[in-house]
Amino acid sequence: MSVITIERKILEKNDEIARSNRALLEKLGVFALNLVSSPGSGKTSLLERTLEQLRGRLRMAVIEGDVHTDLDAQRVARYGVPVVQIVTHGGCHLEAKLVQDALSRLPIEKTQALFIENVGNLICPANYDLGEAMKVVVISTTEGEDKPLKYPAMFRNAHALVINKADLLPYLSLRIEDLRRNALQVNPGLVGFETSCVTGSGIEEWCEWLYEQASTKPSRSGSA
Ligand code: MG
Ligand code: ZN
Repeated sequence: MSVITIERKILEKNDEIARSNRALLEKLGVFALNLVSSPGSGKTSLLERTLEQLRGRLRMAVIEGDVHTDLDAQRVARYGVPVVQIVTHGGCHLEAKLVQDALSRLPIEKTQALFIENVGNLICPANYDLGEAMKVVVISTTEGEDKPLKYPAMFRNAHALVINKADLLPYLSLRIEDLRRNALQVNPGLVGFETSCVTGSGIEEWCEWLYEQASTKPSRSGSA
């Protein structure tokens, strides 16, 4: 059996579990987001700001994916939301099966918005469907304009792009309009945000969009 065949089988199995996750989440009316990025782009900080901003308006839960440590889960737990940490022990992406197991440990029937923070990696998380409603790619201003062109699959499969660490723009040579143009070249449908988790700029706009997505989700009619 060739390596390519094995990989295809792994992805087929993953897609099957992802479909079952999606059916469950849709049946329960849970809006699930898969947050993807390279390491250090600020996914956890964005999540903290989001939990703070939407607290009391949406019932939220979090799945944290990390290669090692539960540091991110500890940070998120401070906001009083249910959180499950998945430690992949070297694995460079989350898989649908891991999310399925995590779902059984969350009060998912009572959840309106579920945030899945993927392992920091712009490559293979693009290929692994987890059963989410949307992928959101976070990129920091320190990463340069060329990332959407270098990692197109990630940007093509995402619904939204958050350009984070906007507060650093005055100190960088980054041309943000080039970054935006490159991202839209890969995926013209991307919804774009610019945020700073330090100053809080753009957080409200991002959260209002999220809130709207979560509250206009086709509810418990179920498309399973
Ligand atoms: Mg993190
Ligand atoms: Zn991987």
